[in-house]
Amino acid sequence: MSGHHHDHDDHVHDHEHDNQYSDMQARVKALETLLTEKGLIDPAAIDAIVDAYETKIGPRNGARVVAKAWSDPDFADWLRRDATAAIASLGYTGRQGEHMRAVFNTVETHNLVVCTLCSCYPWSVLGLPPVWYKAPAYRSRAVIDPRGVLAEFGVSLPHEMGIRVWDSTAELRYLVVPLRPAGSDGLDEERLADLVTRDSMIGTGLALSPEVSR
Ligand code: FE
Repeated sequence: MSGHHHDHDDHVHDHEHDNQYSDMQARVKALETLLTEKGLIDPAAIDAIVDAYETKIGPRNGARVVAKAWSDPDFADWLRRDATAAIASLGYTGRQGEHMRAVFNTVETHNLVVCTLCSCYPWSVLGLPPVWYKAPAYRSRAVIDPRGVLAEFGVSLPHEMGIRVWDSTAELRYLVVPLRPAGSDGLDEERLADLVTRDSMIGTGLALSPEVSR
């Protein structure tokens, strides 16, 4: 079973968020150039900070959500029923009040998230979107050929496993809850969170096995 869940009537797209991001980028760039010219900052230090936000701080929030869902059945249930509230209970709230939906991978179905129109992304739990998420190739091919896209990310799923593609909007954003990896019994939530990569919460990756992450 493979389905593309894109409801055109509901996809009333507000591009304010993208414009804000572009304006912000331009202003940050201008400021960075000015400060660098005046010798006040080291561009390498800025890159390190940006990298931290892109790869560590943001996705760590989502990883904690997933780790809690793996450890606490009541929280998992809440996350399934009302992801916005369950995620907010951990202190991660949306920038513009968008709704969150958690989609749980199972042995039958793998979930993959895309925004076909632009780059809607769950900032509150994943931080800044990766460059490829915004690329036209990913946005179109994730829908047409999700299995091929996953292969390029190094993910090969069993043939019988279906792939469900979720199209994000400004109003509704998705967090994939990957399958808990084998061999992770007995790990506490912080150690479990180490296994949850950004890509595993977009669906272009799987959770790490405890042996690999050590
Ligand atoms: Fe979008």
